[in-house]
Amino acid sequence: MSLASAPLAEETTRHQPVGLIHQQPAGPGRPHPFGRGTRSPKDPHAAGDVGDIRLARVAAAYRGFLESLGLDLTDPDLAGTDYRVARAYQELLGGLQPSAEPKLTTFPNTQGYAGIVSVTGLPFYSICAHHFLPFFGTAHIGYVLGDRLLGLSKMARVVDLYARRPQLQERLTEQVATLLDERLAPAGVIVSVEARHLCIEMRGVSRTGVTTTTMAVRGTFKDTNLQQQFLGQLRSAHAAPRSGEG
Ligand code: ZN
Repeated sequence: MSLASAPLAEETTRHQPVGLIHQQPAGPGRPHPFGRGTRSPKDPHAAGDVGDIRLARVAAAYRGFLESLGLDLTDPDLAGTDYRVARAYQELLGGLQPSAEPKLTTFPNTQGYAGIVSVTGLPFYSICAHHFLPFFGTAHIGYVLGDRLLGLSKMARVVDLYARRPQLQERLTEQVATLLDERLAPAGVIVSVEARHLCIEMRGVSRTGVTTTTMAVRGTFKDTNLQQQFLGQLRSAHAAPRSGEG
């Protein structure tokens, strides 16, 4: 399977193992993009144990792309670009790998905390599935606890998991909300994502600095009052001057 035909995430449902939505049966015929295959690398630049990662195919495809643009591949500036790009996308699309799903260990809510837990300003970088150009920004997550709570650092891992795929901002927002809703079973969860899209800024209408905002809610956050409470926390968190400034 080429990178270009890698399946995008289906909309997740409660019956699917979230985070594993890209997993087709491994093995012959349906290898993972950048996943484990059986071929040994022919990449002279490949570091030892990248072993069966499919860099060579992506690099060859990218070489074809550069050639079809009429570029002179003997230009020293383009030497090795094919493999550099392949490696860069291996990292940028790391969320496609089955091993990318973070372990989401939860803890009992022994204190019976009933307020909103907010984790805001989580930075992310993603690749727009429509144009394969970057979009990037920050994600904000709030949840009202059920019986379990989640280590706060895991929120960033969840955002990263879904950001490092060919994505749409709307889907990214929904997928983060769905995973947290399923794994944490909170009373409610809200995810807000603000992003700039280079496919808007560098091409087409070419508007610089436009921010696109998306929001997904589950459970008690369907209540607009609770949404407003979260958005209020968000505004004050990001309006607050840092101590020492003044
Ligand atoms: Zn786009």
